[in-house]
Amino acid sequence: MKIHEYQAKEIFSQFSIPVPRGSVVRDAEEARKIADQIGGEQWVVKAQIHAGGRGKGGGVRVADTPEAVAEIAKEMLGMTLVTPQTGPQGKRVTKVLVEEGVSVKQEFYVGAAVDRANQCPVMIASSEGGMGIEALAASHPDRIVREWIDVGLGLPAFQARNLVFGMGINPGLMRAGTGIFTQLYRLFDSFDCTLVEINPLVVTEDNQLLALDAKIEFDDNALFRHKEFLELKDTDAQDPLEVEASQHRLNYIRLEGDVGIMVNGAGLAMATMDLIKQAGARPANFLDVGGGATTEMVTKGFEIILQDKNVRGILINIFGGILRCDVLAKGVVEAAKKVAIKVPVVVRLDGTNVEEGRDILAQSGLDFMVAASMADAAEKVRGLEVS
Ligand code: GDP
Ligand code: MN
Repeated sequence: MKIHEYQAKEIFSQFSIPVPRGSVVRDAEEARKIADQIGGEQWVVKAQIHAGGRGKGGGVRVADTPEAVAEIAKEMLGMTLVTPQTGPQGKRVTKVLVEEGVSVKQEFYVGAAVDRANQCPVMIASSEGGMGIEALAASHPDRIVREWIDVGLGLPAFQARNLVFGMGINPGLMRAGTGIFTQLYRLFDSFDCTLVEINPLVVTEDNQLLALDAKIEFDDNALFRHKEFLELKDTDAQDPLEVEASQHRLNYIRLEGDVGIMVNGAGLAMATMDLIKQAGARPANFLDVGGGATTEMVTKGFEIILQDKNVRGILINIFGGILRCDVLAKGVVEAAKKVAIKVPVVVRLDGTNVEEGRDILAQSGLDFMVAASMADAAEKVRGLEVS
């Protein structure tokens, strides 16, 4: 689970990692007030989206007056920001962070991540902070220092010093630097993170270390240990259909194609997506209704697929095991009666109670195309002539 920069910075503060003063706002007038409160002569307005590369995409802008802060906030709020990390569709900005402007002397990269190959956390540091760490890792891997952490020991002082030396920080800042790594690791470990990143960590003109940017990702599989983090989840940043689906315990992910799918079982869903691709079309979503799906869940899943305006055809592919074919068929018919279906629907059913399921579809008076097999389903999807 990703959180926003402003939320990550609040957590940094709890761990005594220094961050610039600032506040998050949702409107331009508030932005001006915050700038007034912060004082000083320069402010930075930063779009809060779940993607980096904002500096390159116009999502980080400097202002010299509180009025300019308001003006920039007004432009950013509501805009769709495209950065090298958002994909071409971009991400909508609903919040901006207003911070004191900082005079930067030097920028570093600092992070903690999970090294899957080595099965342990790795702490990373580099003198080349700022905006191009990914390119640097490819072109000059030698400029990146890594320390692999034994989780039983935590981060020993010598490893923290190796990192600080390795990134070439002024020795006068050794204590502050090791302090940041120590706290960074404590945060990473105690909050079950998969990533904590400060890019850039800066040395200011008055020789202070400051986390100018902050990124935290939590391990979803450990969220049950940190229920308070669920409040940090930004539903603005999520696809509204995905939010609705998760409220109904449906495993739904929106994609960019135009053939909606409803399947039981993640493996069959993946196979169904392949089948659609092979038929020359593109899946509009992933939807695994699961083995124990009820009629209500099937109805909801179908409604969600139909709400996606890109959907020009639907393939329902169910192997009835625990989820019986008649339950599925009832759900589909109920949903179809509720929502006006303007697109063709191909249904492939097999397994428990398949005959009852097919009868329910046939007697519904609705126009379903029933496929006899996976191959036939592919053929019928091809016939939809979408994509
Ligand atoms: P990202 O591009 O999404 O990672 O956003 P960052 O928060 O890292 O900001 C991008 C760049 O803006 C940073 O690398 C800094 O160089 C610059 N920047 C951000 N805040 C300030 C600031 O207060 N003062 C100065 N001088 N530069 C800043
Ligand atoms: Mn950054």
